[in-house]
Amino acid sequence: MKTLRLILGDQLNAKHSWFETVRDDVIYCMFEMRQETDYVVHHIQKVVGFFAAMRDFSNQLKNNGHQVKYLNITDPENCHDLEQNIKQILENNSIVRFEYQAPDEYRLETQLRTICDSINVDSSCFDTEHFYTSREELSVFFEGKKQLLMERFYRYMRKKHDVLMLGDQPIGGVWNYDQSNRKKWKGTPSIPPHLEFPNNINCIKNDLDTAQIKTIGRFEKNHFDYPINIIQAKEQLDYFCKELLPHFGDFQDALHTDQVYLFHSRLSFAMNLKIISPKEVVDTALNYYGSNSDIIDISQIEGFVRQIIGWREYMRGMYWKEMPSYLDLNSLNNHGKIPDFFWTGNTKMNCLKQTITNSLDNAYAHHIQRLMITGNYLLLTQTHPDAVDQWYLGIYLDAVQWVQLPNTRGMSQYAD
Ligand code: FAD
Repeated sequence: MKTLRLILGDQLNAKHSWFETVRDDVIYCMFEMRQETDYVVHHIQKVVGFFAAMRDFSNQLKNNGHQVKYLNITDPENCHDLEQNIKQILENNSIVRFEYQAPDEYRLETQLRTICDSINVDSSCFDTEHFYTSREELSVFFEGKKQLLMERFYRYMRKKHDVLMLGDQPIGGVWNYDQSNRKKWKGTPSIPPHLEFPNNINCIKNDLDTAQIKTIGRFEKNHFDYPINIIQAKEQLDYFCKELLPHFGDFQDALHTDQVYLFHSRLSFAMNLKIISPKEVVDTALNYYGSNSDIIDISQIEGFVRQIIGWREYMRGMYWKEMPSYLDLNSLNNHGKIPDFFWTGNTKMNCLKQTITNSLDNAYAHHIQRLMITGNYLLLTQTHPDAVDQWYLGIYLDAVQWVQLPNTRGMSQYAD
């Protein structure tokens, strides 16, 4: 008489209330599936990163005494389809109940609803306990308003969560320091080398080769620079606060040929997989700022929290407000193809060459590269938004549809 609980690849929240107690009657399941590796051609580092984080999470659960059924990409039992994998486990164990956390993608939400309708055990859905806002909060907030301005939502979030507030006024007297986020970086202040994490990823690459998963981008042996578990994510966050936050706001929009990351936090992958929560990131940065406000200007921390409690939550709210029709919007009626050099970086246009090469090498580009270099070029050349989405969804390590789609189709392509 057991309960089966599903953990999706972007639901690696070790602090979720599910894991507070170890129960003999609960089996957790996690799957590396072709359904996920093949719905778009992903960057090799993205697939490796997801699987590395999932395997690490499953090992943590097992070490803590939980029962986990983990199917890896080469496992002969793996049907590579969510429904079939779940049904197989239901049949082979005495499962009386199926539980899952609300997925963040419309595609998976629909699939899970279908699965729940077709199995003959009770099922229920749980919150992921990750975001500041509920799925519907933005829709409710903007109800009856003509414009869906991010700034208005951001101020509401600042007040509601008491972030950088003095009573009902913003600390410093100004809500938004965007105008001070536009300095050029000319070699100073210096940027210390970014953190590297000793994760063994070669075996995952071998598994992907065995399974013949088609990918794009560069892979370097034993080289994956992003945190894959909560310990590494906290290390990355502490490093960010100490070394990068003091200049984050100033150089938020800067571009430089010698610098891949400048003062950016590189936390999106860990946050999007729910390895670390946005609240933990924001609270840690606010505490660090609080203890160092004599040397860190408010514009640095404001620029950072705006991205997380503002843009990130806003994008999620927009996604759930507009889906599924958002997927078909093409208001400028653009029908062009993505140029071949987007897959190679082989162009004489230097800004594009830098951004695309960076993306292919590191599965990373910061927001100005994504918005104003590649996004702007694809907009000007009237590329079909479907093709734009596919490129962005595949190439970036942090690309999951709820955040990629409104940024790409909305912010960068004006397709909505
Ligand atoms: P930092 O610059 O250090 O910012 C801190 C955090 O703020 C990020 O980790 C991220 O969680 C959040 N953030 C910043 N900007 C945005 C934004 N516009 N929307 C939502 N959250 C934001 N972000 C993704 O996580 N996944 C995507 O697929 C994605 N696609 C994008 C596509 C386009 C066209 C554009 C313009 C932006 C996209 N972004 C996406 C937002 C942003 O580019 C990345 O979040 C950021 O570059 C990640 O690097 P970082 O962690 O170093 O960010």
